[in-house]
Amino acid sequence: MTELTKLSAVELSEKLQKKEVSAEEVTKSHFERIEKLDSKVKSFLYLDKEGAIAQAKEVDKRRKDNQELSALAGIPLALKDVLTQKGIPTTCGSKILEGWIPPYDSTVVTKLKNAGIIILGKTNMDEFAMGSSTENSAYFATKNPWDLKKIPGGSSGGSSAAVAAYFSPLSIGTDTGGSIRQPASVTGIVGAKPSYGGVSRYGLVAFASSLDQAGPFARSVLDCALLHEVMAGHDPLDSTSINEKVPEVVKAAKTLDIKGMKIGFIKELGGKGWQTGVINRFNESIETLKNLGAQVKEISIPHSIYALATYYLIAPSEASSNLARFDGMRYGLRIDDGSMSAEDVMNKTRAKGFGKEVKRRIMIGTYALSSGYYDAYYAQAQKVRALIAQDLKNAFKEVDVLISPTSPTTAWGLGERVNDPLSMYLADLATLPPSLAGIPAISLPIGLADEDKMPVGLQIIAPFMHDDRMYKVAATLEAKLKEQWSGLLIDSIPDLMGA
Ligand code: GLN
Repeated sequence: MTELTKLSAVELSEKLQKKEVSAEEVTKSHFERIEKLDSKVKSFLYLDKEGAIAQAKEVDKRRKDNQELSALAGIPLALKDVLTQKGIPTTCGSKILEGWIPPYDSTVVTKLKNAGIIILGKTNMDEFAMGSSTENSAYFATKNPWDLKKIPGGSSGGSSAAVAAYFSPLSIGTDTGGSIRQPASVTGIVGAKPSYGGVSRYGLVAFASSLDQAGPFARSVLDCALLHEVMAGHDPLDSTSINEKVPEVVKAAKTLDIKGMKIGFIKELGGKGWQTGVINRFNESIETLKNLGAQVKEISIPHSIYALATYYLIAPSEASSNLARFDGMRYGLRIDDGSMSAEDVMNKTRAKGFGKEVKRRIMIGTYALSSGYYDAYYAQAQKVRALIAQDLKNAFKEVDVLISPTSPTTAWGLGERVNDPLSMYLADLATLPPSLAGIPAISLPIGLADEDKMPVGLQIIAPFMHDDRMYKVAATLEAKLKEQWSGLLIDSIPDLMGA
């Protein structure tokens, strides 16, 4: 591995600012590694080498002219293929969007470009972000860089794998029910889902609009916070965007002190059925948090046991409505022999263009929203959603943040759960309650499970628009763990790729 790909965004930024290295060199060194090794990991769907190098040259020019540049100017990033970037194919991991070139930038991409961040390419994902393993991609499965026979999490598995494989120090994912936190957890990196409305959804192809949020992945908490701050902020182009000051997550990630903080571990998230190695690491981190001066106690979120059932009604309902726009008329794929009716074109295009999981969700969602069943399913789920949000709100009267393991298990084997949707859905058990409540949560690596030596993640949940709190706890714990491990957990990744 060249030295440059090994560095964090913060370290690269220092070198760039001191002009010890150019953005062009940084960008090229990452492409070199991708070209050598992504055939094994398969994290990218599309690489924009030419565009990225041109962008890097532009940053170098601006630096040479002593123009003011952001901290992340010249730092490479991998972008989940669900966010539009002008002129670059966007597929959402689906065949139905094959060949579609968006004519505009999503707000997230505009912000990245304004900050001088170099977009290397688009990463693989479960089709329309539906899944927990990236095996639902219509193109190929992505592998976990810790063990190439295992899943990298999902749906943002291309983005998590790209960072864990040192193809990029930063990447962006989206999280509807856990798709940033769970992939971060199983690949041993940091990933954050911001408060709902904290990051603009303009140009984020919708899965379940009331839940979708884009957020950062990185190998360290501070890198993650730096990207979070670039992405976040009010956007008049998104009616659900919050018009408030962005929480000061970078400052929080530098405050390595949690003395006196009150932390609650969620009673319902753990216990029977959860992997022993996951629970062991989780219990150890509770002890570490106590040693760091926090007060830790058990908190019950009684309705969280209904989160899975609630989410798997609400998300498919919204998806069935959102995905109606893919009708063979407007975007990408169109099956049409010239003699077919409009209805036939729609039927054939959707039959061919959507994969099994997407069709399953459209069916469930259409059923739950249909007259006669609406009250029994969708409306009922909305009521339970409100109860879960209320439970969490009540908990924050007693504690500053809540914690749980991010996922019940470590990464499982490729293929193990593809024919059993319910076991795939169970991976989201802990990530769903904050998603339904619209509140922020982060996943931090806390060690390897004893059974399989695969990474375990800790989920830290904060109240709405208090994203800074979870960064403070994550950064403080990370600093302590770094002492124990003499480095980050990801530094101990086995060299499976011969690099
Ligand atoms: N695994 C969940 C699902 O399949 C979450 C996906 C997501 O957050 N995009 O719906």
